[in-house]
Amino acid sequence: MTILTKFDNTLESARLLDKNDELSAYRDYFHIPKNKQNQDVIYLAGNSLGLAPKICSEYINEVLSDWRDYGVEGHFKAKNAWMPYHELVTEGLSNLTKAVPNEVVAMNSLTVNLHLMLVSFYRPNSNRYKILIESNTFPSDKYAVASQARFHGYDDKDAIIEFKSSNGDLIIPTVDIIDTIEKNKDILALILIGQPNYLTGQAFDLDPIIEMARKYKIPIGLNLAHGIGNLNLDLHALNVDFAVWCSYKYLNSGPGGIAGLFIHERHHRDVDRPKFCGWWGHNQRNRFTMPGNFESEPGAYGYQLSNPPIFQLAALRASLDIFNKAKIDNLRRKSINLTNYLEFLLKNNPKTQALIKVITPSSYLERGSQLSLQILNTNKNFVENLQQNGIIADFREPDIIRFAPVALYNTYTDVYNCVKILGDIL
Ligand SMILES: *Cc1c(COP(=O)(O)O)cnc(C)c1O
Repeated sequence: MTILTKFDNTLESARLLDKNDELSAYRDYFHIPKNKQNQDVIYLAGNSLGLAPKICSEYINEVLSDWRDYGVEGHFKAKNAWMPYHELVTEGLSNLTKAVPNEVVAMNSLTVNLHLMLVSFYRPNSNRYKILIESNTFPSDKYAVASQARFHGYDDKDAIIEFKSSNGDLIIPTVDIIDTIEKNKDILALILIGQPNYLTGQAFDLDPIIEMARKYKIPIGLNLAHGIGNLNLDLHALNVDFAVWCSYKYLNSGPGGIAGLFIHERHHRDVDRPKFCGWWGHNQRNRFTMPGNFESEPGAYGYQLSNPPIFQLAALRASLDIFNKAKIDNLRRKSINLTNYLEFLLKNNPKTQALIKVITPSSYLERGSQLSLQILNTNKNFVENLQQNGIIADFREPDIIRFAPVALYNTYTDVYNCVKILGDIL
């Protein structure tokens, strides 16, 4: 599959693109919600909640029947024993992040994992206590870092530095981020970046940013809520200190699904780094005899606190099995094409061209599957109108709508019909 640069504005060409799509069969692995006429909706909200893999119920039912048949013995006797069940998802997570063994684990929820990482990597002192984050970060991430600053006795208004563009744009040029780090290099205790940004869809050029953080010994972490299963990540080589993500967006693990964590190998033997501990992070060999002293599993596994929710892991496994088959490199190429196609159509439809501004950068190197659009002259009926016409997308007050064509289950025809309907509504 190659990256397409030329498109046509016709339904026939959309159908031809679907016909030539090597990944088109994967749509059938998912339940596609229906509209009132019992037709598939145009689902462009996979960046909010991914669709249900058909195989998911089988994986969950396996756990249910093992529980029924074995009770507590299911920990060892289940078809896939629950004791080491979390290990079943680490290969899939490593494939998506290009992590080396022991760098990733599935556990908790995103915000919990973010707090655990801040406990370990945000180590402020009176000279260095500032946290750098994007100005338009997901508010919850700001609540998390602000509460950590307060927890350490700092005023969060003073402790948080936001990076933004120097010209007031929503899109933030790399040089502006580099400048901000350079200016604050002696007082920054942590950098946290959402990759890509949840609101604008901007994927940052992380290499120079991380290089800078390394140079000034500032720990840097990523929030990959919108990156995992979307971008082609390379976390080990990127040399970021840590990353956290949720799995119910592009990873299709279901509402509130189990989240994940990456911690770089070079921290696996940090003896002085504090961390919060629980029995599931203890050395597996004698975890169940629970000796008096905590002895950590190496790497990410050592950050586990509790025995994990097996139903949620089962749901994640169902989805990761699909990713393992389709492969993220292929999915990324298709997603580039789908997103480029969406942008092409928006700019070649007279109505959408006039009334919609694409906020997301137009180079595929600077974005994932999502286009954030600003609608001029929008009114309250707009979103309702979209829904009534079978388009499911995410709207952010006052005027931003986010469309995410997802490589696993969206088609070029979905994208074509979406822009056509959008034009008609406008
Ligand atoms: C989705 C999302 C979250 C959600 O956090 P949870 O702990 O899973 O509720 C946090 N941050 C960002 C940037 C997100 O996009």
